[in-house]
Amino acid sequence: MSADSAFARHTRPELARLLRAMHLDVTYRAGRGDHLTLELPDGDGDGAAGAGEQVLDLVGGAGSSLFGHNHPALVEVARGCFDEQIPFNAQGSVRPGAAELARRLSETVGATTGADYVVTLGCTGADAVEAAVKHATVAHRRHLGALQEEFETLLRRVRRDGTADVPCASGPAAGRPCAEVLDEALDRIAALRRTDPVFVSLRNAFHGKTAAAGTLTHGGNVPEDLHVPGPRHRRLNDWTPDAVVTALDAELVQVHSVTPDADGVPHSAVLHLSPVAACFAEPIQGESGVHEVPAETLAALRELADRHGAALVFDEIQCGMGRTGTFLASEPSGVAADYYLLSKSLGGGLAKVSAMLVAEDRYVPEFGRHHTSTFADDDFSSRIATAALDLALSWRERITEVGTLLRDRLAEVAGRWPDAVAEVRGRGLLLGVEFRLPNPESGMLREVLDSESLGYLIAGRILHTHRIRVIPTLSAPATVRVQPSALLGPAEVDRVAAAFDEVAGLLSRGDYATLMEHLAVPPRGGWQPPQHVPLPRRDRPALSAAARPDGVPRVAFLANLDVPTTLWSMAPELAGWSDRQCTAALDRIQGELDPFEVVRHRITSEEGRTVEVVMIAVPFTAAQANAALRAGQGGWLRRSVLDGVELAVSLGAGVIGLGGHTSIVTNAARDVVENDVRVTSGNSLTAACAYDLLRLTLAEAGAGERRVGLVGGIGNIGAVMAELVAPHCESLVLVGRPGSGRRLSVVADRLGGLTDVSVADDLDALRDCPIVVSATNSSDPVIAPHHLGRDQKVLVCDLAVPGDVHPAVAGLSNVTLVSGGRIQLPGVQTPRFPGITLPPGILYSCLAETILLGFEPTTPSPSYGGLTSAGVLAARDLAVRHGFHPARIVSDDVSVRPWVDDQLSTAFEEDIR
Ligand code: PMP
Repeated sequence: MSADSAFARHTRPELARLLRAMHLDVTYRAGRGDHLTLELPDGDGDGAAGAGEQVLDLVGGAGSSLFGHNHPALVEVARGCFDEQIPFNAQGSVRPGAAELARRLSETVGATTGADYVVTLGCTGADAVEAAVKHATVAHRRHLGALQEEFETLLRRVRRDGTADVPCASGPAAGRPCAEVLDEALDRIAALRRTDPVFVSLRNAFHGKTAAAGTLTHGGNVPEDLHVPGPRHRRLNDWTPDAVVTALDAELVQVHSVTPDADGVPHSAVLHLSPVAACFAEPIQGESGVHEVPAETLAALRELADRHGAALVFDEIQCGMGRTGTFLASEPSGVAADYYLLSKSLGGGLAKVSAMLVAEDRYVPEFGRHHTSTFADDDFSSRIATAALDLALSWRERITEVGTLLRDRLAEVAGRWPDAVAEVRGRGLLLGVEFRLPNPESGMLREVLDSESLGYLIAGRILHTHRIRVIPTLSAPATVRVQPSALLGPAEVDRVAAAFDEVAGLLSRGDYATLMEHLAVPPRGGWQPPQHVPLPRRDRPALSAAARPDGVPRVAFLANLDVPTTLWSMAPELAGWSDRQCTAALDRIQGELDPFEVVRHRITSEEGRTVEVVMIAVPFTAAQANAALRAGQGGWLRRSVLDGVELAVSLGAGVIGLGGHTSIVTNAARDVVENDVRVTSGNSLTAACAYDLLRLTLAEAGAGERRVGLVGGIGNIGAVMAELVAPHCESLVLVGRPGSGRRLSVVADRLGGLTDVSVADDLDALRDCPIVVSATNSSDPVIAPHHLGRDQKVLVCDLAVPGDVHPAVAGLSNVTLVSGGRIQLPGVQTPRFPGITLPPGILYSCLAETILLGFEPTTPSPSYGGLTSAGVLAARDLAVRHGFHPARIVSDDVSVRPWVDDQLSTAFEEDIR
């Protein structure tokens, strides 16, 4: 199994699909300094690189590689650890490495804040956040516990001294007996101790993904059910200082304290207690798109924390360690926190290590005895971190210098392309470039370039064209993070600016074909279908026809892409791409795209009734659908159609038609279960068109010529066609794929006695048939010239989309090839539906049936589940009523005739009705 397949199957299936879709499914085999070595397998096909090309890395380990990859001084320390064979695991002993690191961290942060710190080491950033939540919880409980103890002692004392009933001489409880006041205070403290502590974080905060950290994180782009319950939490959306300071005033609990003076006379005072245990902030928010929290807001947070007796925690996991030019990013604000969290670059890009610094006077000494972690405090990580600390302190100026240069250059780019780049933000080497959402003409590209994927798409372009690695920030994917190492030189800054300039130019000019070129390269493999996320149904807006101002009924027609080059019409911006490029791009993005609206048109019936039809593309091709069905992966296809249905319902469609494979993968539409919407596969009208043609042909055929071959007889349309045609022909042969004999026999048995029926699993059986009907689900042609008779006239009616008949058949002089299932609209109406390449005014029957149902609000769908002969005739009647006529397309000739005269109506039809 290749690494790609193993990654997709056993590691991160969903991520693997995103990476593959965006052509970020690459592997780096080495890292040195600012560069990673990209491993490109032979024949990757983008032609831009050979194996082992150098890529300038601006992702920098999501902020962990401030010193570049494998910095020699840090590698030396790591090597020294191995050479010395220092013990990795020596828990329950004095750990010199951890001690030295903690002392140095306390000293370094203390140089700014003037405090001393006790340091809890961990492995990951989230570890440090969890430790802070836990420590603050313990500190909060201990504080309330100590207060309770103090009040209880006082109460016992006044009772012992016989002064319990003495009224307070002053303060808010003046005149009330002091024991009563203390009792009341104790009740309130006890109540507060029973409530869970509250944690505060900011709008767009990112503090990690574990339970408590995840609760503090503002995860806008993560499915709701991926959050697990954490501590009680409040988010501060308004950052204005007043709003911050007073945000949690409602949580404050007033308690009256009692203090006897020197003469034993009790005086009361007000104490404010609070359930708030800690307020968290990243001084520069990283993952939400690099946003600096204003110094006033940080100061207000300090005040808020003090007002509630809570701890102020600065999460400098990403922005600290010198990344912004000062050791702490919060330094310039002049605001000091009680806890500081560090990680990422603390490990020098080599070790997994994090640190929670708690001001000594706030530290709960017992914490360090009980908060343990197997891998914390190891000498290996600690020694590397200590060396990294040295580098961080000595590189501050250099970081400011190169950071300023880089920011200026990127700002120039933003100035040049203001319609593509919204803003360049950040400080030092923590920068973010926010792109504006482009507005391409086609719905498809609007879907591809949505806010979730834009940054990844840009990242792919920059990687494959400029050999520079960027990725978006985690929770603001339209912002591309630029977090290089401090090794970045001026020449590289030029390269970075040029790359951003090129991409911004492409976006600004709307040159999406070039911007997305890297997607049009065949993927390497390793694909897993998307998993369904069962979320509560969205609230559906009341968009029914009656509720819309124009009152025009709306219907939706869902269609997959029949062949890859449908892309040219779905996304005309990509019309310059080759067939191969279309196929590759669709293979890449398979399963990643949501259904999208393609176009809407109004259609009028002969009587003047109007419906609005909205075409919705379900983004898989017929070939992809067939391959997935064969691989037993039909679930995601069905899901994709159901997402399209959901979109249709939200648009207020009263009828939903399922064109092409969308009905096949939903079990002839049976899997679409809606209450107030009629659902149709539209196949009855398709069958009605074919039946109409065959009835006429059979009526005109001489004796001995009414031999019909039917390909695809076990399919939905095929089976009903067999039933309809059987009474009119002399013989009927049902032809299917090898191995389909038994299922064909079931269909044949149902026709018992109507005609001479036989079955065959070999297309050669068609050679004896002057009339051939084909309705398979195949994505490739199945009927080739050699399957058809040569010495007789043959009529082939192809009902399949994509077609079942090989193009070479059209060249046979004895064969008339009719594309069946086409309908002419009444009057002069020529709506264009991208992806449907039919002559003007002509529609597929399945689309026509959807529209026809829209004209008649109460007529039931004739095509839900298995088709019936009665349903086919009902669909035909519907078309007759509204002036929709069958169109015969032979080569490029279109002929439209009214439906076959009722005179031809047979006793058989009377029976059906
Ligand atoms: N806090 C901040 C500010 C971060 O940026 C991150 C990681 N992006 C974390 C916490 C979580 O760190 P980790 O991924 O190591 O758990």
